[in-house]
Amino acid sequence: MGDWKSEVKNIVYEGQIKVPYKWNVGETGSRFFIGLRDKQEIWGVQCPQCKKVYVPPLKTCGTCFVNTDQWVKVANTGTVESFTVVNYSHGMQPAKPPLVYGLIKLDGAGGSFVHLIGGIDPAKVAMGMKVKAVFADKREGTILDIKHFAPV
Ligand SMILES: [Zn+2]
Repeated sequence: MGDWKSEVKNIVYEGQIKVPYKWNVGETGSRFFIGLRDKQEIWGVQCPQCKKVYVPPLKTCGTCFVNTDQWVKVANTGTVESFTVVNYSHGMQPAKPPLVYGLIKLDGAGGSFVHLIGGIDPAKVAMGMKVKAVFADKREGTILDIKHFAPV
């Protein structure tokens, strides 16, 4: 028998497990998603101390550590600060490749967030490009109620 383990190469099978779950987005997240779903409006919260407007909203300012409870409606237009083009496919993507993820700073917001850029040839997306939110026809209270951001 000897050292049989040194002669065996492990067999590895690939698989996929789907795990159903529920996630409570809380009162702040719920208000944000309800704005997207019911009114096609983008809302953030403003820190009472440093005045930064967070979109998506955060319950607490990450700089001042105080509660942010002043709601501010921001524009549905913004600027592409950065982006990446994805050319490979996997099961978790919200769209088929090639797709473009952009770091978008909405007009009136103090920071940026990541969302899809669409309605344009991925090769033509550029930093500094002005974009506008395109809302999904069927909205369900998720970030994908904004279908993507398209060039203005
Ligand atoms: Zn602050």
